[in-house]
Amino acid sequence: MKKCLTSVNVEEGLEILLNQVHKLEMQQVPIGRVSGRILAEDIVAMEDIPPFSRSPYDGYALKAEDTKNADKDSPVTLKIIEEVSAGHVAKGTVRNGEAVKILTGAPIPNGADVVIKYEDTYFTNQEVRIYKSYDSGVNIVPKGEDVSCGDTVVKKGIRITPALTGLLAGLGYDNVMVYRRPIVAILSTGDELVDINCKLGPGKIRNSSMYMLKAYLENFGIDVILLGIVPDKVESIANKIKEGIELADLIMTTGGVSVGDYDLLPEVMSFLNAEVYFWKTKMKPGSAFLAASYGEKMIISLSGNPSAAAVAMLTFAIPVLRKMAGEQKYLFDKIEIRLCQSFNKSSPNRRMILGKLVIKGGQAYLDISKKNGNGMIRPLHGCDYIAEIPAGSPPLEEGSRIMAYRIS
Ligand code: AMP
Ligand code: MG
Repeated sequence: MKKCLTSVNVEEGLEILLNQVHKLEMQQVPIGRVSGRILAEDIVAMEDIPPFSRSPYDGYALKAEDTKNADKDSPVTLKIIEEVSAGHVAKGTVRNGEAVKILTGAPIPNGADVVIKYEDTYFTNQEVRIYKSYDSGVNIVPKGEDVSCGDTVVKKGIRITPALTGLLAGLGYDNVMVYRRPIVAILSTGDELVDINCKLGPGKIRNSSMYMLKAYLENFGIDVILLGIVPDKVESIANKIKEGIELADLIMTTGGVSVGDYDLLPEVMSFLNAEVYFWKTKMKPGSAFLAASYGEKMIISLSGNPSAAAVAMLTFAIPVLRKMAGEQKYLFDKIEIRLCQSFNKSSPNRRMILGKLVIKGGQAYLDISKKNGNGMIRPLHGCDYIAEIPAGSPPLEEGSRIMAYRIS
């Protein structure tokens, strides 16, 4: 492999990769399928929501001035001139001494400026009696209360939530411009790997990392193609990577990226004549890591160890893919969190630890599994935060404050 940067720190490595990323193209998607997608257009309201002033209650619409002298002992009595329900419009105009029976969601009739709930009146079919005075505008939902025509509702680059889907539907968007979802092709390398439905022969293990990585990626709205398993052979790995390049925006490999005799990924990069951005990071787990480009596409090579693969993928690949997906905010938010337990090892390099957020006495704590190892998957289950222990830290006491980001 040509000379390349080695052993980069996280910030440096991430910056190199993020600088290579281009947003994917935009596409129109029907409103029924946009939730979770990344918005690719600013949304400016071309209509008011609601489109007319309406009643939030069943009651009577009338002129507030007619109630000026009303009280319990001398109520005002008004003549009911018609009824209007949701989806219909009153024919007449309300004049002094008159009221329109109105139902929830119906437009306020012309001339009326207050709605009085049924339960606050006495009524017959012909008349309604009011027992107190009301100010103009009471119980009227004004046109444009939720959204006014001309408002910039949201800017592009955000993930569409269920509520935003409803808002877009309310504004009449039957199709919405979103970014295409990134496609990642995952390739598992290693002579020891067999697929999950195969019998385990001597020395073999199941290809668990591939399915775990797929599931993590899909949680971030990324599409995944599984390229399966290739043995530790330079040419076979290179050919499969080429296959993936045709199908995906980014190729993710696992295994063979450390410095052992069978760690062939650096050699594969030379064979492919790929440009290697860097190899190895100053981060534990996840130091075995390589990032390269082949043509327009990025190759991210992770350790075969499940925990190490997950940590490195979350640290480097997810921000890259979120930026590619058009997300404005592609870095995780960090929060301060305290350690639930003491951490007995010192950390010459930056250490990443996965854990679960727990609240104790109103404080956020990170609960880390006591039984933890790079090659293990079980401790990852249920983890929703990754915390960073800065390089050069001594063992940490229970309650120590560290920064963490949410990964679920
Ligand atoms: P490597 O990164 O190739 O040195 O592999 C490190 C460790 O991870 C070894 O114990 C491998 O057997 C194991 N490993 C490699 N690939 C996978 C995988 N896809 N799923 C689970 N374990 C793996
Ligand atoms: Mg290996």
